[in-house]
Amino acid sequence: QESSAAIEVAHLIKLYKTTRAVDDISFRIARGSITGLLGGNGAGKTTTIAVIMGLVLPTSGRIQVLGHAMPDESAEVLGRMNFESPYVDMPMRLTVRQNLTIFGRLYAVENLADRIEQLASDLDLKDFIDRANGKLSAGQKTRVALAKALINQPELLLLDEPTASLDPDTADWVRQHLQDYRRTHDATILLASHNMLEVERLCDRVIIMKRGRIEDDDSPDQIMARYNRTTLEDVFL
Ligand code: ATP
Repeated sequence: QESSAAIEVAHLIKLYKTTRAVDDISFRIARGSITGLLGGNGAGKTTTIAVIMGLVLPTSGRIQVLGHAMPDESAEVLGRMNFESPYVDMPMRLTVRQNLTIFGRLYAVENLADRIEQLASDLDLKDFIDRANGKLSAGQKTRVALAKALINQPELLLLDEPTASLDPDTADWVRQHLQDYRRTHDATILLASHNMLEVERLCDRVIIMKRGRIEDDDSPDQIMARYNRTTLEDVFL
């Protein structure tokens, strides 16, 4: 029987030489939830997500994903999760369809051509699906990135600032899509953000990180009530 948590992190530490990027954090993420990791630059959000994903090895600590120890049992879970992160760039010369085909094969997606058609329709990619990835607008790239992250219909989705540099309408559209995906697939989503309004609208729970540590962990309502805008900025510094 698998653990009821989608993610369990216990006493995670990640040092880069002497930098304590993540400094002894612990949390559990319930299945089916959307959780925001909120924090300023250098708070440790990206590192936390990369370690959970198995892209970066922890210095110490215990990580369980969908009931399996990471990174030792990553082969058991990698196909059931997916992520969107600046750690991985898509080749710019290839078309959107070629990019999605590569990622689909990586995840051994069945009926891949049909899955790509489905995503093209859901995410409105049809107009540029045969255009080179390098020739897309920021909003189009975001939709392609989302298609890539959803190609294997992951149970667990990790996102690093999914709406950074998008206009407000496109950002709202992305959030709506993530909520729909969570509902239709009973999926768990963990995302890094430094946008309080974003996590308030999208998330069930907010974990605030500061200098590699967890500063607070609560519902968006409670977090909003506890910190006015000014103090939230203080928290980030
Ligand atoms: P941002 O919002 O700026 O992306 P973040 O909360 O995602 O910030 P991280 O990227 O996890 O923060 O960085 C945490 C700390 O670790 C920072 O001090 C950063 O400089 C350092 N760091 C991150 N990656 C590396 C690396 N590969 N080598 C050395 N130091 C790193």
